[in-house]
Amino acid sequence: MAQPASLETVPKDQRNLRACLLCSLVKTIDQFELHGCDNCEEYLHLKNNRTAVYDCTSSNFDGFVALMDPKDSWVAKWQRAGGFVKGCYAISVTGRLPPGVVRSIKQKGVIYRSRDTSQKS
Ligand SMILES: [Zn+2]
Repeated sequence: MAQPASLETVPKDQRNLRACLLCSLVKTIDQFELHGCDNCEEYLHLKNNRTAVYDCTSSNFDGFVALMDPKDSWVAKWQRAGGFVKGCYAISVTGRLPPGVVRSIKQKGVIYRSRDTSQKS
C-alpha cells in the first residue's frame, strides 16, 4: 500500500546549480565556493567566499551548452574568448554583477557584457 513519498524528479544538486555572471560557466554552488570560477577566478575571487559566489553567480539561467572544444566552438566565438575551460555553459543568465565588481574587472581590461538575454530594456 506504500505510496511514493514524492514525485520530485529534479536531482537534488541540480537546484544548487549556478551560472557565472561573467563567463556563464555552470557549476554547483559548492564547486564555485571550493574552486572558484575556472575562467574568472582572478577577477571574481569566488574561492572560499560564499557571499561573492552569491553576488557573481546566478541560479536563474536558461539553456545548457556543453563546450567541448573551446578553441573552435560557436560558444567560444560568441563568448569572445578562446581560453575557456571545457564544461557546461548557460545560454542566458539572469542577473548582473555588482557595480563594484564591474569596476574592478574593467580596471583589469575586461569589458563586462551582461549575459542576461531574458529582458528587453
Ligand atoms: Zn566565470
